Amino acid sequence: MKSYDRLYIGGEWVEPSSSSTIDVVSPTTEEVIGRVPEAKDADIDRAVASAKDAFEHGPWPRMTPSERAAVLSKAAEAIRNDMQDIAELISNEMGSPVSWGLLAQVLAPTMILDYYAGLGSTFEFDTVKDGLLGPVMVTKEPVGVVAAITPWNVPLFLAAAKLAPALLSGSTVVFKPAPETPLDANLLAEILETAGLPKGVLSVVPAGREVGEHLVNHPAVNKVSFTGSSVAGKKIGAACGANLKRFSLELGGKSAAILLDDVNLAEALPLMMPNAIMNNGEACISLTRILAPRHRYQEVTEALVDQMQGMKVGDALDPATEVGPLVAERQRDRVENYIKIGQDEGAKIALGGGRPEGLDRGWFVEPTVFVDVDNSMRIAQEEIFGPVLSVIPYDSDDDAVSIANDSDYGLCGGVFTADNDRGLGVARRVRTGTYMVNSSTPIDFSSPFGGYKESGMGREFGEDGLELFLEKKTINLPAGYTPTV
Ligand code: NAD
Repeated sequence: MKSYDRLYIGGEWVEPSSSSTIDVVSPTTEEVIGRVPEAKDADIDRAVASAKDAFEHGPWPRMTPSERAAVLSKAAEAIRNDMQDIAELISNEMGSPVSWGLLAQVLAPTMILDYYAGLGSTFEFDTVKDGLLGPVMVTKEPVGVVAAITPWNVPLFLAAAKLAPALLSGSTVVFKPAPETPLDANLLAEILETAGLPKGVLSVVPAGREVGEHLVNHPAVNKVSFTGSSVAGKKIGAACGANLKRFSLELGGKSAAILLDDVNLAEALPLMMPNAIMNNGEACISLTRILAPRHRYQEVTEALVDQMQGMKVGDALDPATEVGPLVAERQRDRVENYIKIGQDEGAKIALGGGRPEGLDRGWFVEPTVFVDVDNSMRIAQEEIFGPVLSVIPYDSDDDAVSIANDSDYGLCGGVFTADNDRGLGVARRVRTGTYMVNSSTPIDFSSPFGGYKESGMGREFGEDGLELFLEKKTINLPAGYTPTV
């Protein structure tokens, strides 16, 4: 049991404003494994005031990018030194299989921190050039007080995706993790403090959506960086728009894998499957719609079922587990409800559909494959967020592209084919922010990542991810003056 009785606000562990607490419950055992104080509006006000003061008067924005980068590098190193324990902590919070978690939940955040630490010495914060009317300096300055809001599914990864570039920029941060995963957020605060983050720069305020709304609407917050559902993203975008507050949104997805008619399934499925039900299907980039050529539909379905029924479902902490429990009972209810909706709509279950035998505790759902799915069905249009795949037939490449694009979302996707050129042609036509051609890598941390359509606004990762936390200022200079930058 990991318990905190204080909140990390402005670089200090302080008394919370209320006695309200959040229990962290293991999705495998349904037992309480941690407890933290729940932040309330008064705690948010205190955290924002501290971030504003640190931004206006503290050392952090005035340090060099390389000095700030050194803190990120030390934090990455500290996480790397404790990978197994951190992976287990996160699996205990939200049910991610620990073997997958070691890479995606723990190693990946260190790569993100290291990447942005590297930008500390290579990114051009200041450039001087000859403008049309005289010399000009363009300087990129920190945006100010950042509200970072994340969901529970890849908590440390998403925290790193926001905090690494925000901190490198010189901004100060109020971080609101999801109430399901506050323990790794507090751990990150401890790690960053030990790495040398000055007081005031970071606060961690675990809470639910109402308190999140208070943070978003706080007048002293200059920028909101949000990852979560499209429903919440629309509200946050509207609230920020009303006050011309900067915002960026990483939202939901319903991504399609296109298996072209020349595909070799023995080669393609090992590339595709890790992205189809990664993280128990609780991933925004999951390839949950499998588009199969009609004349090979049966063959594709059988191969998929064969792969999925071999997957080991069980305790998230067991290194052999490939599919763990869903984050909460309400999430299992949601997934089971979609399984019922799919059947009511006329789709057929080729595998799974129920709860796995012998797992009476924990919020498990069997890996499930739906066949005879039409893309207009709700199970093909809405984000289920569980280990459920839908196999959809198509008649031609054009048909496959139009089915892939027939979605409110546009986050990710992949094409698998014997012909890379043909695959790249398909990739160019699918309206999503990230794509895979015969690849199993959905995100490259040095390149932009984000969504078209209702999957988001703005791009995280790469230099774009840093630009999200920078304001640009043009300074016109007198003729003959060249400042050193
Ligand atoms: P959610 O939108 O309900 O909550 C996400 C976070 O936002 C939580 O911390 C929550 O407390 C907070 N929140 C919710 N409404 C808010 C509001 N109006 N104002 C301020 N804060 C608010 O999402 P969820 O169901 O917990 O997470 C799953 C969703 O996240 C899925 O849709 C998934 O696709 C998406 N996601 C997207 C990405 C990406 O990079 N695009 C990555 C991971 C998850």
